[in-house]
Amino acid sequence: MEEVSVLLPTPAYSRLTGPLSYSHPSALPPGSLVRVPLGARDSLGLVWPRAAPDAASPPPPERVLKPIAQVLDGIPPLSAHWLQLVDFAAHYYQRSVGEFALACLPPQLREVSAEQLARKIKKHNKIKDLGIAPPQTPPALTAEQATALARLATDPGPFVLHGNTGSGKTEVYLRRAALVLAQDPQAQVLMLVPEINLTPQLEERVRLRFADLGDAAIVSMHSGMTPAQRLNSWLSAHTGQARLVLGTRMAVLASMPHLRLIVVDEEHDPSYKQQEGARYSARDLAVYRGQLEKAQVILGSATPSLESWHHSRDAVPGEAAPRYQRLAMPSRVGSGALPLLRRVDMNNQPRKTLISAPLLAAMRERLARQEQVLVLLNRRGYAPVLHCASCGWKSECPHCSAYRVFHKADRTLRCHHCSLTQPVPRACPGCGNQDIGSFGHGTERLEEHLAELLVDMKRPDGTALRIARIDADSTRLKGELVRQLAEVHDGDVDVLVGTQMVAKGHDFRRVTLVAALNPDGALFSADFRAPERLFSLLMQAAGRAGRDAELSAGSPCEMWVQTFHPAHPLFETLKQHDFAAFAEQQLRERSQAGLPPFTFQALVRAEARSQEAAQDFLNAAREAGDTWLGELELAVTLYPAVPMSMQRVANVERAQMLIESGSRRALQHFLAAWQADLQHLRASHKAVLRWAIDVDPLAI
Ligand code: ADP
Ligand code: ZN
Ligand code: ZN
Repeated sequence: MEEVSVLLPTPAYSRLTGPLSYSHPSALPPGSLVRVPLGARDSLGLVWPRAAPDAASPPPPERVLKPIAQVLDGIPPLSAHWLQLVDFAAHYYQRSVGEFALACLPPQLREVSAEQLARKIKKHNKIKDLGIAPPQTPPALTAEQATALARLATDPGPFVLHGNTGSGKTEVYLRRAALVLAQDPQAQVLMLVPEINLTPQLEERVRLRFADLGDAAIVSMHSGMTPAQRLNSWLSAHTGQARLVLGTRMAVLASMPHLRLIVVDEEHDPSYKQQEGARYSARDLAVYRGQLEKAQVILGSATPSLESWHHSRDAVPGEAAPRYQRLAMPSRVGSGALPLLRRVDMNNQPRKTLISAPLLAAMRERLARQEQVLVLLNRRGYAPVLHCASCGWKSECPHCSAYRVFHKADRTLRCHHCSLTQPVPRACPGCGNQDIGSFGHGTERLEEHLAELLVDMKRPDGTALRIARIDADSTRLKGELVRQLAEVHDGDVDVLVGTQMVAKGHDFRRVTLVAALNPDGALFSADFRAPERLFSLLMQAAGRAGRDAELSAGSPCEMWVQTFHPAHPLFETLKQHDFAAFAEQQLRERSQAGLPPFTFQALVRAEARSQEAAQDFLNAAREAGDTWLGELELAVTLYPAVPMSMQRVANVERAQMLIESGSRRALQHFLAAWQADLQHLRASHKAVLRWAIDVDPLAI
């Protein structure tokens, strides 16, 4: 009998963090999938490389090991590279390897027996290609695209492809992918996009371009798929049948034994960071994976993250070489010009103005020419607060430190944090006053307001203008977003109102005016990343305009910003479309303040029934950590615990503590050792409901 190490989905706090030993008549290669008894149940496990026996220590006592119940031998073992990837990621993001590794596998794999899997694979292998069509002919390259592709062919990367919206980045990805796939009949390509909603668009483009590979060679991977679809895509990628995998962040952990190219489109997008469980960054893992598997990595964006921008700076003699190489595509394909920035100084507008007179006039002019207008407001619902003028009552959520938002369509008050939904009270719950007022504007109210402002305008066929709203409320039903976007694409909509959801990646050809109504909040936010996010949102939103060169030939497209701070440097650089200047200015500030990418951060968050209990736990952990930090001479700073900015959600109090270091290595070393303190302290802090570490957090 052989002893086999098996990783199981055991969480870090269970103290069973390493692999467990089982017996089997023969040795099994690492990466094999097995089913083993675990407690009273039977669980999916992953055969893990056995640690070399330590010659210095005495041989372990003879133990009676439980046998492996089943080997899922219908599928090849996971590759050594894949095992190394999940091992790295679990350690880096402070998770147990077993829990992390098994969570990377499709959920259905955890439920099936070897027989069921064999049947599935048989069925899967039967999928034959239905008609192999000729591929679509690609357009002739622009000079900038040709230069970028030439660098991709000769340099190692990783690359930051800094290409303006509409500069033809996607075309570069497709060309590079075509070359990589043609050079090696087994090669696989992974293309990541930030949102599920962007996968169908990309998938269509990819399927047309690579029609000659056959349908089965292209698969998607995202959380909107059914468990059966996910298993199928995973098996395709794992067996090498899929040559191209398109997916959201989870796809970075797909098993792809012949991976040669990874593209991360819109690499700056915060949705690449997982916000629960193992809080990994798919972009950062893509770079690690590329290095590990010798796959080329392209991070593309019109507004790269400041981390990627900094890592791709020009080399300075005498300093360490930057980690990434930058490729620039500043021009738009064709003659579509970049939009002009117009600022409205809201200090000169009547109080409580939602849409200023000059903006309204500009919109009406566009609409009269049958062009489309896009209006952004970063707040859904009708009004963010209801209040009573006579007693001061406000629509606070009883369970959260937030106001419940008034939704007029169904006359509810809804908490956007805990989802508490109640009918709007007829009278003030505080004093019985019948006249409760609403405060502020959400997208629902904006839609209503615009309908009033534009009521006299008609479409050429004499019907009223169409105003549509796209936000998390309007798209709650499955398929709604796709349907609504199609309407906009088809020109059935004249004015589109929405949250930032509509600013990403969609191609609205007839939009010639984009307006951001109140972007000021981000200018003075406590979150040091807020300006970076605002700049990229406005730049992306502006990128929606002017895609149709014929339309913009008449009069240039415009991006309107209503602000109380028109002279703010962020708007100055935006006006020039000068991301580089904006990035340099931000990086200077971050460098002076000792913020990322010049330092490395982690957050530990704790949740408890009281704020005090949550903070006590964190501060005790801080003390414990501080005592041995000095001994180890690690330059790591632990800050005192503070309430989170959303302090209370669903009656749970939340606190956090920042950990910072100038050295990633020191921070990692500290966190790994400190886990034991946290687990130990948790036992004596019974009021703590949960705690978690977030490495490289995106929001502080
Ligand atoms: P990005 O990804 O940078 O926003 P895309 O690759 O989507 O840009 O290109 C923008 C538009 O220009 C698309 O409609 C695309 O089909 C078109 N396009 C891209 N490259 C070329 C080219 N070399 N010649 C003509 N049209 C192109
Ligand atoms: Zn009242
Ligand atoms: Zn709530």
